[in-house]
Amino acid sequence: MKLLSVIVPCYNEEESVADFYTELMKNKSFFDEKELEVEILYIDDGSKDGTAGEVKKLRERDERVHLISFSRNFGKEAGIYAGLQNAVGDYLVVMDVDLQDPPSLLPEMFRYIEEGYDSVATRRVTRKGEPILRSFFARMFYRLMRKISSTEIVDGARDYRLMTRQVADAILSMKEYNRFTKGIYGWVGFQTKWLEFENVERKKGETKWSFWKLLLYSLEGIVSFSTAPATFAAVMGVLFCILAFLLIVVIVIRTALFGDPVAGWPSLVCIISLISGVQLFCLGIVGQYVSKTYLEVKERPIYIVKEKL
Ligand code: UDP
Ligand code: MG
Repeated sequence: MKLLSVIVPCYNEEESVADFYTELMKNKSFFDEKELEVEILYIDDGSKDGTAGEVKKLRERDERVHLISFSRNFGKEAGIYAGLQNAVGDYLVVMDVDLQDPPSLLPEMFRYIEEGYDSVATRRVTRKGEPILRSFFARMFYRLMRKISSTEIVDGARDYRLMTRQVADAILSMKEYNRFTKGIYGWVGFQTKWLEFENVERKKGETKWSFWKLLLYSLEGIVSFSTAPATFAAVMGVLFCILAFLLIVVIVIRTALFGDPVAGWPSLVCIISLISGVQLFCLGIVGQYVSKTYLEVKERPIYIVKEKL
């Protein structure tokens, strides 16, 4: 018999824990038919509500349910990492607890694994039910990433993915602290089948991602999987040097030919503020990379476990 590990990161999701279990177990006949054993790892990402308690209740009924509680909120990326590290299955699948990643897709996903794919990924083709501004920025982000990163990062890709042990081990071998899972999935490669589905709205509770958190997350993605901004800063610097050099030549010649009537301070102020703005911007870009590097070299653990069942 083969073992399928279901990894479910949860943060303040007490309402969804039991529903997810019920929904997942609707696949029972499929599990039986394929002779798949199942283990479910709920990763309680430092929830402040009764999430852990709900999981324990489930565990009393069903030994296949496991709980890993973090000492505080470490973020979904850390939850996924902990899940992959602690799961022992031959196949592993990462799913949201809010049922936005429909468990009913599992049989189809598994079919592709049987066909020989190493992992089966999902992407939503609609963003129905999402604020317009949010979808707009999300689209822009993916368009930008396609241009500046050599790693494939697919628009609308979810973290919902079924993979073989080999792929999971490859992901685990990337021990970086700043984890941008969508990029990591792409970076490790392997034969991936993409399934598409229509966006499903969250059943209960509310999203943990504010617009601000998403913006920071997208910066994370850019800095983690592209060095194009740093190159851009360098190119900008060179262009401004050339411009300054040409201006000096022009001014020297003009002064020699026509003398130097004192004028033009407003334009001078404009130029100074423009250039210092560009400098600060570029410094900020460099700062992003330095600060990420700083966090990486500290080699802090990605998560800390408080309780494990
Ligand atoms: N999540 C988590 N830690 C966090 C934020 C979210 O483990 O700090 C989990 C959350 O419980 C859910 C999944 O990640 O299972 C996706 O979160 P959410 O539904 O809030 O994001 P959205 O679907 O709106 O992008
Ligand atoms: Mg969700």
